[in-house]
Amino acid sequence: VTEVDVESLRPLFAGRLHTDAADTAPSLTDWRRKWTGAALAVAEPDTTADVAAVVRWCRDHSVPIVPQGGNTGLSGGATPDSSGTALVLSLRRLQRVRRIDTVGNTIEVEAGVTLERLQEVAREAGRLFPLSLAAEGSCTIGGNLATNAGGVEVLRYGNARDLCLGIEVVTADGEIWDGLRHLRKDNSGYDLRDLFIGSEGTLGIITAGVLRLFPLPAEQAAAFVAVPSPAAAVALLELAQSRLDASLTAFELMSDVCVRLLVKRVEAARLPLRERSPWYVLLEVSEMQPGARAAEAIERVLQTAIEAGVATDATISDSEARYDAIWAIREEVTEAQAREGPSIKHDISLPISEIADFVRETDAAVDAACPGLQKVTFGHLGDGNLHYNLSPPPVPRDVDAFVALEPRLNRIVHDAVMARGGSISAEHGLGALRRDEAARYKSTVELALLRAVKDALDPQHLLNPSKALP
Ligand SMILES: Cc1cc2nc3c(=O)[nH]c(=O)nc-3n(C[C@H](O)[C@H](O)[C@H](O)COP(=O)(O)OP(=O)(O)OC[C@H]3O[C@@H](n4cnc5c(N)ncnc54)[C@H](O)[C@@H]3O)c2cc1C
Repeated sequence: VTEVDVESLRPLFAGRLHTDAADTAPSLTDWRRKWTGAALAVAEPDTTADVAAVVRWCRDHSVPIVPQGGNTGLSGGATPDSSGTALVLSLRRLQRVRRIDTVGNTIEVEAGVTLERLQEVAREAGRLFPLSLAAEGSCTIGGNLATNAGGVEVLRYGNARDLCLGIEVVTADGEIWDGLRHLRKDNSGYDLRDLFIGSEGTLGIITAGVLRLFPLPAEQAAAFVAVPSPAAAVALLELAQSRLDASLTAFELMSDVCVRLLVKRVEAARLPLRERSPWYVLLEVSEMQPGARAAEAIERVLQTAIEAGVATDATISDSEARYDAIWAIREEVTEAQAREGPSIKHDISLPISEIADFVRETDAAVDAACPGLQKVTFGHLGDGNLHYNLSPPPVPRDVDAFVALEPRLNRIVHDAVMARGGSISAEHGLGALRRDEAARYKSTVELALLRAVKDALDPQHLLNPSKALP
């Protein structure tokens, strides 16, 4: 193995090249602090042409590349391995909003623009960019596309893939593919865009995207609802969908364990209801017509739900501050669980009609195998997506023993998911976390197709090696 002189990269591009430990450290550990790696350097190019120059240098020196956006991913996909041979390629400095079209309702932005900034730019133009997730202040649109991110508005607007019309990609060979189409319709051959979306940096580097915009809602209201069980929550979802149709923009579920952790770990958090309940639903209604009275629409649905016994109590936002406070409860759950220490996470999806039985049976199987674990179950029930997360028992705390349970718990949870026709990664991707697990559940035909795609687009296997692809 010949030593690679990373300094020879420096004159080839504008932007930054970090080699000092203090500068590279934040890019070498993931948000959960579950993975820490090492790298030759962290490159932060300024433009697409500079990204291409960096990739060509990596190709010529056989240096693996780990693309990175906001580093908020939950599957370890943006962390290099411990060999120290890879270059972390950060897209954060690709910051330009290139074009906004309020007739065609599209916006073209570079990969490093944060999701929050994109939402703000859209709002300033009188439009909604509906992708929304708790990491939006830090995650980037490039990362959102690379992971096909979901979040809380998928029920109404779809995930990152549904919101993307075109992309610009630097290929493994260091060429620039301009696929920045602003078109709703384009059947001119294989859909390369959809191949790169969700590929977690293993097929190409996304440097820009064209995203869809929507009208801003005239009025929004949220409700926090106590429900006795996941089965009741599913019944409430069915009722709300039949009454509210497209006005129902979010439908989230969380267990009381989530609320207990929130109250313990997040200073300002408190339950907006008089009494605790085993489960809660957060639902949001968005009305496009001024004066449509979102809160009243929710109230009518909840009245029926309470009469039918599928809800027991509720609070509905009557101001922007209350609306924000209700959403804050949901958005702080991931952070609250992180503060509780190590966790074993399962980002799963199921046909919605299977969810209640899945939770009941899997809870029982987990209790039987490993008694006392905290089941921090929450997620996007309207999309059939649960974060079936586990934390150690509150006492006694034996963190090492808990971490050692992970393979056994994964097997219990994922076998149950697959038996019900689900997926072991709904929105977080496979990354390092689920790569080998995916191999267990995919057919040999599917694995061969996936490998053929990788071989065709990245023949040297330099793009995010050992991630995502089993
Ligand atoms: C508190 C919290 C809440 C979250 N909630 C949600 C949620 O509701 N829904 C959801 O889907 N996710 C959620 N996430 C996960 C995370 O925010 C998303 O996966 C997000 O899309 C990652 O974006 P990023 O810019 O941080 O990407 P990174 O973490 O930097 O990278 C993620 C993956 O994409 C690759 N990548 C990044 N940028 C590029 C690029 N430009 N080109 C090619 N590959 C690239 C990386 O190599 C890596 O494999 C949450 C995370 C946190 C911390």
